[in-house]
Amino acid sequence: MKKILVAGGAGFIGNHLCRFLLEKGNSVVCFDNLQSSSKENIESLLENENFTFIEGDINHLPKFSNNFDQIYNLACPASPVHYQKEPIDTIRTNTVGVINLLELALKDKARILQNSTSEIYGDPLCHPQIETYCGNVNPIGPRACYDEGKRIAETLFFEYYRKHNLEIRIARVFNTYGPSMLKEDGRVVSNFIVQALQNQDITIYGSGNQTRSLCYVSDLVGGLYKLMNNEKITGPVNLGNPREMTILEIAQKIIELTNSKSKLKFMPLPADDPTKRRPDISLAKRELDWEPEIILEDGLKETIDYFKGKI
Ligand code: UDP
Repeated sequence: MKKILVAGGAGFIGNHLCRFLLEKGNSVVCFDNLQSSSKENIESLLENENFTFIEGDINHLPKFSNNFDQIYNLACPASPVHYQKEPIDTIRTNTVGVINLLELALKDKARILQNSTSEIYGDPLCHPQIETYCGNVNPIGPRACYDEGKRIAETLFFEYYRKHNLEIRIARVFNTYGPSMLKEDGRVVSNFIVQALQNQDITIYGSGNQTRSLCYVSDLVGGLYKLMNNEKITGPVNLGNPREMTILEIAQKIIELTNSKSKLKFMPLPADDPTKRRPDISLAKRELDWEPEIILEDGLKETIDYFKGKI
C-alpha cells in the first residue's frame, strides 16, 4: 500500500484517478480547492477508510506529515473558460503551487507526476505532435496563462530533477472526456452533449474544421498510472487518443447518438484556438505498453448517460 497525494483529486480526471488508486489498494489523500471541481465527484469515496479529502489550495500547501510515496499534480483548471476566468491565479498555480508540491516531494523523497498538457504545443506547426516538438505558443494571448504556465511547470520539474535528482514524471495529456465533467465545464464534449440533450443549438466556434483527438478518461487514468510506476522514464510522454476528428464531426456524432433535433450555430473562434491536434503516442506505446482501448462511440454513450442524469 502506497501513500499517495492527488492534488486536484476532486476534478474531472482527478476523481477517476483517486478511485483507480484506491482499487489498487493504496491510501489516497485528495487535496482540492474545488475551484473547477465538485465535492459530488468524490462523495462516494468518503466512506472508504483509505481515502481522505482535504479542501485547500496548492498555493498555500499545509504541512503534511503523511510521508507520501507518490504525488500526482492535477491541480489546475483545464477548460479555457475556467482557466481564463482568473488568469493570474492560473499562473500562480503553475508556478508557486508547483514549487510547493515539488518541495513536498523533495522532503518526502516521493515520486511526483505532473499532469501536463498538449497545450504545450500551442497551435502546432508539426502534426501529429511528438514530444520533441517545442511548440508554437503565443506568450501574450488569452491562453498563455495556461499554456505558458504549464510550460514553466515542466521546466520546474526538470530543474528539480537536475538539481536534486527528484523522481519526476511528466504526462502531456491531450483532450479527455467522460463522466463527471461539469455541466458548465465549457469544453467541446460536455457543451455539445448538454446542448444536444436539450435540443438546443450546438455552438460551433469558427468553421468547425479545426480538429481534436478525444481520449476516454479511463484510458487516460491507466496511462497516468503506468507512467508513474514506470522505473525508466521521466517523460514528457504524450497520453491521448490518436483518432483525430473535426469539431463538426464531433457535433454530428453527438447529435446522432442522442437522437437530437439540435441545429448547428456558428460563433466566433476564440483567439489562438489551435487549428489541429493529434498526439503521436509511439513513445507511450513503446515505453509504457499503453494505448487507448475505448472507442469514441462507447465513450460518448457513457458520457451521454452521465449527463442525462444531470439534466
Ligand atoms: N468548441 C466549440 N464549441 C464549444 C466548445 C468548444 O466549437 O461549445 C471548440 C473550440 O473552439 C476548440 C475545440 O472545440 O476548437 C476544443 O475546445 P475545448 O474547449 O474542448 O478544448 P481545447 O482543446 O481548445 O483546450
